[in-house]
Amino acid sequence: MTNSIRVFKFGGASLKDAAAVKNVQQILHRFSGQPLVVVVSAMGKTTNALEKVIEAYVKKEGSAVSLLHDIRTQHFRIMDDLFKENHEVYGTIERAFAEVEKRLNTDPDGEYDFLYDQIIYLGELASSMIVQAYLAETSLPTQWIDARSILVTDDIYREGWVLWEETLANAKKNLQPLVSKDHFVLTQGFIASTKSGDTITLGREGSDYTAAILSYCLDAESMTIWKDVPGVLTADPRIFDNVVKLDHLSYREAIEMTYYGAKVIHPKTIKPLQNKSIPLYVKSFIDPSGEGTYIADDVEDLYPPMVAIESNQAVMNISTRDFSFVAEHHMRYLFGEIADQRIQVNLMQNTAISFSICVNDVDNKVDDFAKAIEKDFKVMIERGMQLISVRHYHQDVLENLKRGKIVILEERIGKTVQMVVKDVPIMTWKR
Ligand code: ADP
Ligand code: ASP
Ligand code: MG
Repeated sequence: MTNSIRVFKFGGASLKDAAAVKNVQQILHRFSGQPLVVVVSAMGKTTNALEKVIEAYVKKEGSAVSLLHDIRTQHFRIMDDLFKENHEVYGTIERAFAEVEKRLNTDPDGEYDFLYDQIIYLGELASSMIVQAYLAETSLPTQWIDARSILVTDDIYREGWVLWEETLANAKKNLQPLVSKDHFVLTQGFIASTKSGDTITLGREGSDYTAAILSYCLDAESMTIWKDVPGVLTADPRIFDNVVKLDHLSYREAIEMTYYGAKVIHPKTIKPLQNKSIPLYVKSFIDPSGEGTYIADDVEDLYPPMVAIESNQAVMNISTRDFSFVAEHHMRYLFGEIADQRIQVNLMQNTAISFSICVNDVDNKVDDFAKAIEKDFKVMIERGMQLISVRHYHQDVLENLKRGKIVILEERIGKTVQMVVKDVPIMTWKR
């Protein structure tokens, strides 16, 4: 029975309001009577809103509780369109919010990343409780399980790394026995637990990854992520208008594109699926009968040019202060620091006495790294860059992308071109 299990993931966009929840119910209805594990994210933009609560709480701005109340009101509004007045889910959600409010009424005590995870989890928890109650209400019996009783990670808060042995054991013990043709199993994406039982998260947009971890643990037959796009497209339709849907994609293409910014799938999603040859479907929740994109091992295709854009990039130019070569021992030291700060390096180039890297400019990581190495190295930082990655490039596509931009770094490896660019400043011509 186990290998007929499917895992579905519904993200924030597919649960953004009551109509969206009803649409998810209709999609699930088609699969009733089949063993299905459903992973849900927080509704709409709840995680962003909770980040504002956390900021206000940690900075003691005094507005944290009222910001939390706004989020609670949004959830109640959704529930008002889904349930009768006295439905027990109101009490359940009330208690979930009260738990976080209790924390907000105490002084922030502990590291920022730890406090973040102790609050941010609420989005996924509330969403899963509402969806479970609605499915039950509409005759789709669903067994709810707290993802924190399955997924275990190390204790790097906001970016927990999965401890596979513990997670597999929990999945066998707590999740597998729940899977049945008689009901769906529903759980949360993004959230997990440390070995000592504290709440932790897998990193922003991590719910796709949760679904892949569970697919791996259950030896699922397939995994499907339901999105607001028809499938994986050749580029982000929010930025480009001439995009085309890809019917098939290999794991390799998918991992390369998502790592460099194709935001449609979380980059960590692919590995667990590839390791067990579990196919991934990316389908539209707006047009559920559409074919979507099929991602698997055995797909080798002639691909059209595909473009991924990652914003918020910083280029760090690092040179030795004493004009010595940037040698191996420098590299060892620099990469040690980069690993310690958990910086994602997207591109690197070096000359005799300098070394340039393009990195994701998140939190204070770039400044902290620069500070750590400034004694031995001169560091110049340029922020606000974009990294454009083009797979299977054609020259005319590259020329088009470069229009109106200044190219800071460029690299070609095989079928891929990567460019770090900034906008050309608008200049006025003075006579
Ligand atoms: P979720 O609701 O699961 O959080 P996201 O909003 O994170 O979904 O991801 C879907 C979005 O990803 C799309 O609306 C689209 O704008 C964006 N996107 C970026 N690159 C691509 C791509 N290559 N193909 C399809 N969608 C893409
Ligand atoms: N809710 C989380 C986020 O917005 C996780 C996810 O949606 O995948 O980042
Ligand atoms: Mg998302």
